[in-house]
Parts: sequence; C-alpha cells; structure tokens
Amino acid sequence: MFNNKETFKQVFTEQLVSRLGKGLEEAAPEDVYKILGGMIREYVGRQWAAANRTYRDTAQKQVYYFSLEFLIGRLMGNNLLNLGVLDMVRSGLLELGWNLEEIEEQEPDAGLGNGGLGRLAACFLDSLASLSYAGHGCGIRYKYGLFEQKIIDGYQVELPDNWLQRGNVWEERRADKAVEVRFWGHVEIGMQEERTVFHTVDYERVLAVPYDVPVIGYGEGQVNTLRLWSAESATDLSRIRTANQHNSYYKFLEYNRSVESISEFLYPDDSAYEGKLLRLKQQYFLCSAGVQSILRTFDKLGLMYRELPEYVAIHINDTHPTLVIPELMRILVDDKGLGWDEAWDITSRTVSYTNHTLLSEALEKWPAGMVRELLPRVYRIIEEINKRFCSMLLDRYPGDQERISQLAIVESDQIRMANLAIVGSYHVNGVAALHTELLKTQVMKPQYELYPERFSNKTNGITHRRWLMHSNPGLSQLISEGIGTSWITDPVQLIQLQSLKTDSAFQQGIQRIKRSNKERLADYIAHKQGIQINPDSIFDVHVKRLHGYKRQLLNILRVIHAYNEIKDQPGADRVPRTVIFGAKAAPGYYLAKSIIKLINVVADVVNHDSEVNDKLQVLFLENYSVSLAEKIIPAADVSEQISTAGKEASGTGNMKFMMNGALTIGTLDGANVEMFELLGRDNMFLFGLELADVLEYYRTGAYVARERYAQDSRIARVLDQLISSGPFCCHELEFGQILQSLLDHNDEFFVLEDFSSYVATQADIDDVYLNARAWTEKSIINIAHSGHFSSDNTIHRYASDIWDIASVKVSMNR
Ligand SMILES: *Cc1c(COP(=O)(O)O)cnc(C)c1O
Repeated sequence: MFNNKETFKQVFTEQLVSRLGKGLEEAAPEDVYKILGGMIREYVGRQWAAANRTYRDTAQKQVYYFSLEFLIGRLMGNNLLNLGVLDMVRSGLLELGWNLEEIEEQEPDAGLGNGGLGRLAACFLDSLASLSYAGHGCGIRYKYGLFEQKIIDGYQVELPDNWLQRGNVWEERRADKAVEVRFWGHVEIGMQEERTVFHTVDYERVLAVPYDVPVIGYGEGQVNTLRLWSAESATDLSRIRTANQHNSYYKFLEYNRSVESISEFLYPDDSAYEGKLLRLKQQYFLCSAGVQSILRTFDKLGLMYRELPEYVAIHINDTHPTLVIPELMRILVDDKGLGWDEAWDITSRTVSYTNHTLLSEALEKWPAGMVRELLPRVYRIIEEINKRFCSMLLDRYPGDQERISQLAIVESDQIRMANLAIVGSYHVNGVAALHTELLKTQVMKPQYELYPERFSNKTNGITHRRWLMHSNPGLSQLISEGIGTSWITDPVQLIQLQSLKTDSAFQQGIQRIKRSNKERLADYIAHKQGIQINPDSIFDVHVKRLHGYKRQLLNILRVIHAYNEIKDQPGADRVPRTVIFGAKAAPGYYLAKSIIKLINVVADVVNHDSEVNDKLQVLFLENYSVSLAEKIIPAADVSEQISTAGKEASGTGNMKFMMNGALTIGTLDGANVEMFELLGRDNMFLFGLELADVLEYYRTGAYVARERYAQDSRIARVLDQLISSGPFCCHELEFGQILQSLLDHNDEFFVLEDFSSYVATQADIDDVYLNARAWTEKSIINIAHSGHFSSDNTIHRYASDIWDIASVKVSMNR
C-alpha cells in the first residue's frame, strides 16, 4: 500500500470509507491521522513478525533496555521517514487535499519521560532498530505522561497529560502475554528435599498487561518492540487479599483503584529522588513483569538457565529498574529451583547499569521497612545479597569499617540502589567522559577501586533521524547536495562538510535555511503567543528542564542586565537578540517555579518597552516537549548550555543544537567538554568556572556570594531590581526566595561567580555574529562534527563493549 503513490491514495481513500464511513470531503485531520497511522501499523506488521521469528529461530541474543521513562514524542513523521515513504505520502496526501504537517500535529506527544534520561532511551530505541540490533524497550504505559504546562499570569500551571484519550494508533494490546505481579504478603519458610524453600502467602495480585509498540528502524533496519506494561486488576476475585468476604465488592473496588494507580502517572521529577510507596510499586511492577516476560521467551529456546547471559542482556537506565536484580534472583531460586551461587552468577552476568547523575539528591535510597512490607521476599533477597557482599568485603578490607559501610547495600535502614546495581551487574557506565571520571574518582570511588574492570564511559547521543532529518529537512537536503547522502546511514560522514565551510554558495544555503527556520518559529510564536519576534535578531535559546544547576537564573539575570544597558544608552548600537526559554519545573520545586515567574515578568516588561524591544525580546514558550523542541532547535543561533561545572552528567540538548548549526555558549560540563575537544575555542563560546575551580571552592569554602554582590555594581543593580526599585518591582514576595538562595544560602550553583564571564562572552557572540561569513563557517564546523554525537555511535559501543551483540539480518524484504 506504500509501494507507489496511486496505490497509497487508493488504499487510503478506501480505508477512510471502510473504517470511518467517511468520504474524503467529510474527513477531519484527526481522521486522516488515524487512517494513516493504522495503515503504517498494518504495513509494518509483517516485518515485525519476521523480526521476531528470525530472533527466535536463530536464537539471537536479545537486549532489553529497562527504563521508567521513554520520552518518544510523536511517531508518525519518524515512522514514515524510517520506512522511506515520507515524500511519497506527503505528496499523495497533498493531492488528496491534506498537508502532512497538519496531520502530524494531530498526534499527541508520548511524553512518558521527564527530560534527557527518557529522551535518551527513545533515541537508543531508534538506533537499535535502525542498526539492526535485537534490542527492545521495556517500560510502563502511564495513562498520564509528564504534566502539560500552561503559563497563566506568568506562573506554571500543571494540567494532566491525557495522551491516550483518543486512542493510540501505534500500540497493540497483548492480553495473552499478561503476567502476574505480587505485592505485600508474608514469607513462609519450608523444607523440600533438604532444601530451604520460600513461599509468599497472602499477597496481592496485579495483572501486568503488555502493550507493544513497533520500533521501526530506518532503511534496511528492522522492527523491534517497545513493550509498555499496564496494571490491571486480577479478575479471579477469590485470590484477592480480603479477609472479610461480606464486603468483598467494596474491597474489590478499593483494590481496583489501587491497582490502576500503579500505571496511572509518571512521577514529574527530574534530578531528585522521591521516596514514595507508589513509585516503589511502579519500579517493582516494571521489573517483575519485564523479567517474567523475558524468561518466558527464553524458556522457549529450551536451554539451561546458566546460558541466560549468552542469550539475554538486561540493561537498566539509571537505578530506577534496579529491582530486576533481586527479582531475577527470586525467580531463578524460588521458581526455577537453582542454587543461590548459580543464580547469582547468572544474574550478575546478565545485568548492566547506566548511571545518570552526580547529584546526591538524585541517588535512590529506599527505606528498608517499606521494601520489607511491600516486597517481603525481594527484601530478604536484597538482605542476603548484602550479607554475602559485606562478608566478602570483610575479607578484602579487614578493619576498614568506613569503606565497608560506604559500599554496603543496606545501611542505616536504607537500601542504596546504586550500590545494589553495581554489585549485581557486570558493567557500569557513565554518560560522558567527565561524568565517568567523576564517578570513578568521587561519587563511586570505593566501588571503582573494588571493581575497576566494570566501569566504562559511553557518552550519550541523539538520533540524527529525528533531530536532523525529520526536524530540519531543509538542512538535510542541503547537506546531501553538498556531500552526498552517505551521512544518512553513517552520520560521522558529516565531517565532509569541513571542505565546504568557507564555500560561499554553501554558506548562503546554510543562512537561507536558518533564516527560513527562524521565520517558521516566529510564525508559530506569533500564532501561539501573539508576539511578533524579529527573525533578524540572534535567536538565543535555553530549553531544558528547569533546575538550579542548569542555571536559567544566570540567563535571566544577564537579560535584566542587558535591559539595563539598553535603558542607560538607548541610542547605542546593539545586535538585536531574542532570548527564548522553555522549561518545565517539577510541581513541588518552588524555587524553580519562581524562576519561571521571573522570566515571564521580565519578558512582559522587556517586550512592552518600545525603547528596548527592537534590541531585546524575551519569550517563555509553554509546555517544552519533544515536538516543541523539534520546532525550536532548527531555528536557534545560540545554544545555552550553562550548567555549573560538574553538575550536568552529559546533556543531549547540547548535541541537538550543534547538529542544527547553533553555536554553543557553555561551561566545561558534561558532553560540552567533548564538544569543545572537537571544536576548539574558536567554534564554541566557553565561559565560567571549571570543575577544578568548583571542587577547590568546595574544599576551601572560600566562595562568598555576598562579595560578588558588594563588588560588582551590575550584579547589585540587577538583584535589587528583583525586590525593590525599578520595572520588575511589586513582586517582593515572589522573588525574595530567589535572592535568598543567592545571598543567604551562598549561591549553591555559583550564578553570581560566573555572571561576569557570562556577560562578557555574550558580548563576544554579538561581535562574531556581525560577521556573517565567520559565523556561518563556525556553524558549518559545528554541524560537521555533530555526527560524533549520533546515538548510532553510542549504540555501537554499547553493543560491542557491554552487550556483546552483533547486527542481525532479518530474512524478509520490505
Ligand atoms: C533533549 C531533550 C531534553 C534534554 O535536554 P538537556 O538540555 O540535555 O537537559 C529534555 N527535554 C526534551 C523534550 C528534549 O527533547
């Protein structure tokens, strides 16, 4: 049905009638979306089945990527792109009177993630399928994704993201593959043929039902599976934990509500740990359902369990799915009857772990009592793992009590998930060179000293298929005209653009495309926000989660400073800037929310001051999400990557901007360091404290934020404007907390310390921008080196260094 345009149009029109009972002229955009989505689903069905069959028949090693988050965004455009039918479908729909972009807008974002971590999982799935690796996602089908953000009177307001309301054309419910997950209850110990056996009784049963989404690889790639689990009540009422049968109906309703809550919503928390029972339930639900389903597939191969590590790799995306370790132990020991040592050998050769953070507030620690009650058998297994591990440590480090207690899994009635993940896995990786170094030398130093061979770096990446080919088709085409199309399947080939960096025709092409992307974004903003922005200004973009360490505050303070400069010298020449923000704050993160309010107050003043607004405009775009990122990033001139050195594990937003030709202003943090190594000082705007400086301040305690306030009159003026005099006044209560964090709490993220170098570096940007040729050359150099950050590279390294898998040839043509 996608072989040629005429067939496509014919099938499409027929399905509109047969499935919706509508003719072309009656169809709404949503109908077109539904029909087209259904056609794609149907079309890939055979390839999906063929991939699964090939994997089974050839007993391929399978990778299962466990993640509590998959921030996949929309699938329609990328699926059409990866199937190689995008242009044909666009043109066919146009002939039927429909604009594909408008149809794509009908799709709700699958926002099953907070930010970078969830987006990484989505990029990895795309790369796995496109590179023909047998790798699948394993996650939760949250009924509500990350909240939808509205800005009302300058404040963030959170609305539920009811993304499934109108159905999901991509998913397939597989009731036949449901498994049972058990909570609560008591462990009973018995003997069976000289062996101690454990039974849990009085447990609560929850049905885990998988919804499978095909992950469609590009070109010769194949169709893998993203399996999202949904919690449903077990229908066999007799087994529900109710002592009193009289009111069993009400008990059932209560039970039903509590079960459904397990996959009801995604916790809207980024870089912070929440010790909530429901969150623990979600984690175990995913781990138990996922592991059971993996073993059921493995069982069909008829092999011994000790061969499991040769056929299955389980990867955990941060510590959220660490319970796969005790859960796999539980099944092998209790259900399959293996001895502890053998089960442990199998488990710890099957699981690998990615650490995502250096922030101590993000390290998961569960109260032992909570785990003991909710998961009594799993708790005993964790205790046993800890006991055996600690006795090994006693042998190895006799008398070094401090080291042993740092390494222990259970300590002070807390279960430390990172420690469990390292002990129970064969590989641990950080997500950027600097981050991995910090893991080895600081955060996980004792673990690294114990298991140096387990640690490696795997710098994050992004899929160029979504972040260049789909979101910036103009640039993609220009690149192909310049260097041919080899970069499409081998993005490192983008480096060939180096030979065109000073070519004036190519430079003009780059400028033309950036200009048209900026106009497109300006139109979107005019439509959404009623503000006309100037496409000749520098589009200076800061989009990511709102967090202290990401320093949106530093950015808005320099905006206020720029406003002051313009007001002081209204006649002075200045390169016009449009500063664009987009960020969601966790609902309970009050400081972050008042920074959003501040940005909006500043935007309001700046944009309405006619003395200023031809030189400076400020926008906060609401509901930053994957689909919004795809609109904003291709239009950016400047990428703000200004986290406090040592805080951002990697960043992936930085890579997306680079790939779209924006120049980065940034600190030497996360993957910025590696960008800098590729680009050099001439092609990136570096500023601020480096990691060594930050560590030195931590060591000496010599940083005094109030001194910066006292010594730098620009800082004093800007901060005073937040609470008293001037155009941002009347918000005393509002911004007092921000001031407090800077002055009373000594500016945890060194905002005031870096203010001066940040402002100076922003001025350098203006100077370079005035020279269009020089700017464009730097932009081309950025695009040329961005292939290094393709998630295809990253996935090749995971495949060879961690998972030990090779590409699979699926026997069937498209
Ligand atoms: C890429 C991406 C992120 C991560 O951005 P960072 O700048 O690396 O923090 C967050 N949210 C969305 C929607 C993204 O696309």
